[in-house]
Amino acid sequence: MLLSDEVRYIKGVGPVRAERLAVLDIRTVSDLLFHLPYRYIDRREKTEIARLRLGERQTIVGRVVEAKAVPTRSRLHIVSATLEDGTGRIDAVWFNQPYILDKLKEGTLLSVTGKMRLWKRPQIAVEEYEVLGESIRTDEMLSVYSVTEGVGQKFLRRIIRQALSEVRPYIVEHLPEYLLNKRNLARLADALWMVHFPESEEELQMGLRRLKYDEFLLLQLIVASRKKRTKNRTGVQLKVTPKIEERIFARIPFPLTKAQKNAIQEIKRDLTAKYPMNRLLQGDVGCGKTIVSLYAMLVAVANGMQAAMMAPTEVLAEQHHLLLKRLLEGSKLKIGCLTASTESKETLLRMVANGDIQILVGTHALFSEGVCFKNLALVVIDEQQKFGVEQRLKLLEKAQAPNLLTMTATPIPRSLALTIFGDTDVSLIDKMPPGRIPPKTSFLSKNEFEEAVEFVRQRLRKGEQAFVVCPSIEDIDENQRGAISAFKDWKEKMKGYGTVELLHGKMPPEKRDIIMERFRAAKIGLLVATTVIEVGVDVVNATVMVIENAQRFGLAQLHQLRGRIGRSTKPSWCILTGDISTEEARKRIQVLLDTNDGFKIAEEDLRMRGPGEFFGEKQSGLPDLKIADLINDYPLLVEAREDAQELLQEGKMNEREESILRKWVMEKTGSKWRFLIQ
Ligand code: ADP
Ligand code: MG
Repeated sequence: MLLSDEVRYIKGVGPVRAERLAVLDIRTVSDLLFHLPYRYIDRREKTEIARLRLGERQTIVGRVVEAKAVPTRSRLHIVSATLEDGTGRIDAVWFNQPYILDKLKEGTLLSVTGKMRLWKRPQIAVEEYEVLGESIRTDEMLSVYSVTEGVGQKFLRRIIRQALSEVRPYIVEHLPEYLLNKRNLARLADALWMVHFPESEEELQMGLRRLKYDEFLLLQLIVASRKKRTKNRTGVQLKVTPKIEERIFARIPFPLTKAQKNAIQEIKRDLTAKYPMNRLLQGDVGCGKTIVSLYAMLVAVANGMQAAMMAPTEVLAEQHHLLLKRLLEGSKLKIGCLTASTESKETLLRMVANGDIQILVGTHALFSEGVCFKNLALVVIDEQQKFGVEQRLKLLEKAQAPNLLTMTATPIPRSLALTIFGDTDVSLIDKMPPGRIPPKTSFLSKNEFEEAVEFVRQRLRKGEQAFVVCPSIEDIDENQRGAISAFKDWKEKMKGYGTVELLHGKMPPEKRDIIMERFRAAKIGLLVATTVIEVGVDVVNATVMVIENAQRFGLAQLHQLRGRIGRSTKPSWCILTGDISTEEARKRIQVLLDTNDGFKIAEEDLRMRGPGEFFGEKQSGLPDLKIADLINDYPLLVEAREDAQELLQEGKMNEREESILRKWVMEKTGSKWRFLIQ
């Protein structure tokens, strides 16, 4: 039997079961062997019946006193057995497995695992059981798999054991010998056995470590080769002369911070080098990334070429457009703005195509088909975490290897810096412009909501402005209102204190523009909005933000939102309201009250939600991690990274080792990375 064989050739499987296995995505022997247990029952840890605790999963060993089928009125089959172990008695119940009754003869010794619950009297709902007389071993740790109809635990365990024993001698070790020794890794064939049928915790960990290492190594091989490829490519090489710089800096209305200057130096080095820039500019909300990107765009323009800047929302794109026009007033530069709702696109697109427009700002509309640049030298992507890899690549296709500058306020936890961002250079702006006071954040419960209202009134009376943010446009339920309802309510409450307006993504863009414009000009006191204002919006006079139903937002998102205030030397306040009755919600909100450090918040967010949701794994274009964990297995990730870089160097492997490794990568990635090792 081979790993690539279909499962129906395994003894005891056949075509019918094979179809059931396909439901679990198990088609080949290899799929089966990599269908890893998600949990283990350690039967050595058995509980005496007298000491069982309600609601917990426990294992007992006892003899059958009596067993019977319990009559039910529905079609549910219940079998119940009373077990005794010398300390007490308890009922064990099986659902929809009527055939079990035959095995439960009086006096039979059983091991039973399940949760104890109360159903008239205490009972154990059986998840796993074994008739001890007939079992092969009783002291082992028992693997538990995800199952489906027609594919039960016992069946899976049996065919995995069967298949693994048979193919074990033929499992190719894809890691070179020196790596196995260097990192003290179990061989793949052994590791699989250890993970499916561990005899001890140590053995299990040994097996898991090897399989996790493989996942990390694959990831790191891809990352390392991506990086190598970028640096070997030729991009648009730009010139920066003192005269050019002088003209650029004359446009910047304030002295740059040291952190901004450093970032500019790093960008300059990339732009003037042969390889295309691939740089991520990272810095907490409000640190001043936009102006740094302006530098890069103006370098492109000074070289007679074009720059494009993409933002995730129309509101933000329009804001960037306005800012650029203001800063570049009086120059000959032409700046265009393209969003889904831009009118008279034809003229604009023509001017982009013939080079009359030097800087084009916009949303994802920028990479739609009709958009052609004359000579695009630089792509800036603001709030890059909002875009997927595909979208970024599409924009890059608008030119041959253009320079790429991405920006984000979402800090990259170290584990992601080594993976998703492993092929990116990072510049960090770690200081705020001088004089900033971070917003004070507090939480008010539903009963204290009036306090928030009173507070907003006070600030409006002082001539300051405020945001109210709601999680949706329409009401979610009676307790979680949307922006439209909130707007009506706040309007009523602010009578005599200031103008209240509504802003959300479904409004016509012209109307949105007018409202943002009036808010910027302080003609509106309070803006009730959805998350359309989450990213980028920069209105310095706004000092209060009330976030309704804060429990519905992600942590990083809440931090972004509150970054809309505290953008000047005035004090500012973020008031979170909503329902934090669950422990998890309470913990999350506490993080925001405790710190203003976006990096800490991101790490915490990553810990609570996992990387998938945090950055959207599908964004990364990297293979999924099934068992390895970016946070808990971080040290192993670092080792795999080192090894991947080493493997890509010449002479580390002999020809045979290299071809085996390459074959493994191709199998795992569906040939996507066939140029990986060259
Ligand atoms: P973000 O990094 O969140 O995109 P912005 O680029 O929008 O931040 O900048 C936030 C605010 O700080 C803007 O009003 C900008 O004009 C201002 N700003 C940026 N750099 C400086 C600086 N060096 N000194 C003073 N204000 C600055
Ligand atoms: Mg920004």
